Amino acid sequence: MKSTVKSTCCYCGVGCGILIETENKRITGVRGDPDHPANRGRLCTKGATLDQTAPLTYRLLTPSKVLRSTGKRSQISWDAALDEAATRFAEIIRAHGPDSVAFYISGQLMTEDYYVFNKLAKGLIGTNNVDTNSRLCMSSAVAGYKQTLGVDAPPCSYADILQAKVIFIAGANPAVAHPIVFRYIEDARAANPDLKIIVADPRRSESAEIADLHLPIKPGSDIALFNGMLHVLINEGLVDRAYVEAHTSGFDALADIVKNYSPEQVAALCGIPAEAIVQAARWFGASEASLSLYCQGLIQSAHGTHNNAGIIHLHLATGQIGKPGAGPFSLTGQPNAMGGREVGGLSNLMSAHRDLANPAHRAEMARFWGVPFVPANPGKSAVDLFKALKTGEIKAVWIACTNPAQSLPNQAEVRAALQTAEYVMLQEAYANTDTAAYADLLLPATGWAEKHGTVTNSERCITRVVSALPAPGEARHDWEIVVDFAQRLGKKLQHPNIDNLFPYSDAESIFNEHRESTRGRDLDITGLSYAKLESLGPQQWPFPEGATRGKTRLYEEGIFPTADGKARFVAVEHLPTADSTTPELPISLLSGRMRDHWHGMSRTGTVPRLFNLEDEPLLAMHPCDMRHRNLESGDLARVANARGEMTVRVAERPGLQRGRAWMPMHWGSQFMNSPGANAVASDATDPYSLQPELKHAAVQISKCTLP
Ligand code: SF4
Repeated sequence: MKSTVKSTCCYCGVGCGILIETENKRITGVRGDPDHPANRGRLCTKGATLDQTAPLTYRLLTPSKVLRSTGKRSQISWDAALDEAATRFAEIIRAHGPDSVAFYISGQLMTEDYYVFNKLAKGLIGTNNVDTNSRLCMSSAVAGYKQTLGVDAPPCSYADILQAKVIFIAGANPAVAHPIVFRYIEDARAANPDLKIIVADPRRSESAEIADLHLPIKPGSDIALFNGMLHVLINEGLVDRAYVEAHTSGFDALADIVKNYSPEQVAALCGIPAEAIVQAARWFGASEASLSLYCQGLIQSAHGTHNNAGIIHLHLATGQIGKPGAGPFSLTGQPNAMGGREVGGLSNLMSAHRDLANPAHRAEMARFWGVPFVPANPGKSAVDLFKALKTGEIKAVWIACTNPAQSLPNQAEVRAALQTAEYVMLQEAYANTDTAAYADLLLPATGWAEKHGTVTNSERCITRVVSALPAPGEARHDWEIVVDFAQRLGKKLQHPNIDNLFPYSDAESIFNEHRESTRGRDLDITGLSYAKLESLGPQQWPFPEGATRGKTRLYEEGIFPTADGKARFVAVEHLPTADSTTPELPISLLSGRMRDHWHGMSRTGTVPRLFNLEDEPLLAMHPCDMRHRNLESGDLARVANARGEMTVRVAERPGLQRGRAWMPMHWGSQFMNSPGANAVASDATDPYSLQPELKHAAVQISKCTLP
C-alpha cells in the first residue's frame, strides 16, 4: 500500500518539512513539503538523501546487555532490560541519593520525549541532573536572550530574511550548516541588489563569499567587535535614543564601557582594519531593517553568553527589533533543541521557561506534576556531569540519542568518565556510535521516519511529526521507554503518587500535559492541539487559547518579559579565548561544519553519496604554516595539545589567515584513529550558560612521518 506522510527533516534547526513516501512499509522517496513554512518544498543535500539512511544495517534493533570488558552483547527482553535498569537506578538512589544518577539526552528527541525525561528526573527521582547535547549547541543563546530580552525566545522569523536591508551574519556559516536559510539570503539578495551582507568569521567561509564586507576577526574577539560597532553608532548619532529611553535599561553603563572601544582599539583586538568596523556599524545603524543571524561561532565560547548579549545590544541601541526584517536571530543547531528548551530540558531550566532558582516556579511545577517538590539545586551541566561521573559523584548515567564519546570536548576525560561509571545505559537508534562501546545496557529506540510527536525549529515553529514506518525490530519510541522505566522505578522507590505520574498511553497525552504547563507563560500554546497542527499546519508560539494563528514576530510593541517591561543592556567587555596561543601551541584550531554531514555522522556517514564533496577528514591550513612545518597538501600531520592528539591529512585552503587552521567536527573514531577535533577541544565553559568552548583550541601541528 502506498502512502505519503508529513514529517520534518531530522538534521538541523531550520526544521524543513518533508513528505515521506512509502510503499508496503518501505520508504520509496523523500521530498520537501511545499506547504511547510520553513522550506516551502526545498531541501538541502542532507534532507534530500534522508531516504538513503533508511536501511537497517547500522540500527540497534534489540535490547542488549553488554560485557564492557569484551564488548560482547547478549540480547535480552524489554522486561528484563527495564527491570535491570530500574533496579540498578533504585539501588544507587537509595544508597547515594537522587543526585547520584543523571540523564544526558538530546536535541534530536521529540518535545514529548524530552518532557517525560524531564519529569522523570526532576519530578519522580528528585534530581536536576538532566542535561542534553543542546548544552553544547544553544545554551549561550538561551542565557543571552534571558540576560537581555528577559526570556529564551528568538524574536524573528525566516520571513524577516526577505525583508531585511542589512544582514549581519556573525559566527555562523549558513551556506553549509543551515542551507535552506542561506537560500532565503540568496533570494533576498536577488530581490534587492542593495541588500548589504556583512559576515564576521575568522575564516573566509562559504557564507562569506556572498558578503559585501567580510570581517575576519581573531577567534573569540566578537565582544570587542560588537562594542566597537556600538561605539561608532553612538559617536555617529545612529542610536535610536527614543527607543533606548522607552524600552531599555542599562544603556548608559554600557555606553561608558564602549568609550574604550574606539575603532582603532578594536582593530587591534580583532585584527581587522578600523575602517571595516566603522563601515559595518554605519550599514547596520543607518539601515531601515538590520537582521543578525548567528550560531556556534558566538555560542560555543567560554564567553558565549556575552557574545550573544553583545550582538543583541546593537539591535536594542538602534531599535532594530520587533519590526519586519529586523532583530537578533540565533540559528538553532539541533532539529529540536528549541522543543527541549520549551520543556526545561537543561539542568538549570524548568518547564515552560520557568526558572529553577525561583521557589514559586518550583512549587508551581511540583503541584502541576503531583510530586512533593522539585529540587532547588541546579543539576550538573554536560561537561560537569561527565566530570562527576569520573570522580564517582554520579554513578549511573542514562544517555539517550546522543554520542558524548565524540561530541563532548576533551575526549580523553569523557571516555575515562564513561569507563569509570558504575552503570551506563544508552538508548539509541544506531548501534555504530562511539558511545555504544561504553554501555552496560543498550536500548533500541525508533529513528527519524518512525518517530511521532512535535518539534520546534529556530523560528519557534511547532510541527507535528507523524510516523511513516513502524518501529523496526524491537525498537520502541523514546517516550515509551521512559514511561515504562518510570513506572517500574517509581514502584521500587515506593513513590506515593506513581500510579498517576506517568499515565500516558500516547504521545498526544504528553503533548496535552506540556501544553497545559505553558498556560499564561510567554510561550503559551494552550490554543494548539495535534488536530490543529494537522489542520492549520505548523504554527509559531505563542499560540494561546483563542488565537487563530501563531506569532511571526515578538516584541513589536517594545514590551519585554522583564520585571519593568524593558530590555536590558549588559555591561560586557572583551575577553580572550579560553586557550591562548603560545610558542608551544601556536595555531588556533577552529572547528566547523561540512555541507553534506551532520554532527557525528551516525546517519550521514552511512550514505555514500554524501562523501562526494570530501571523502576523508582534512585539516585546512594556511600555506605559510604548512611550509614552515615542511608540510604539503596530502601529508599527514599530528595535531596535539595537553588534552589529546589526532593524526590527519592536511590540505592547503584559501580563506584562512596565518596561525589559524580549520577542521570539520563531524569526523570521529568511525573514520579516524582518534575522536577527531574534540580530542583537543577545550572543556572550558561560559560562566552563565556552562557551554564549552568547542570552537577554538590552541594546538601544535607537526609533520607526521610514518615508518
Ligand atoms: Fe532543512 Fe536543515 Fe534538513 Fe537541510 S539539514 S533539509 S536545511 S532541516
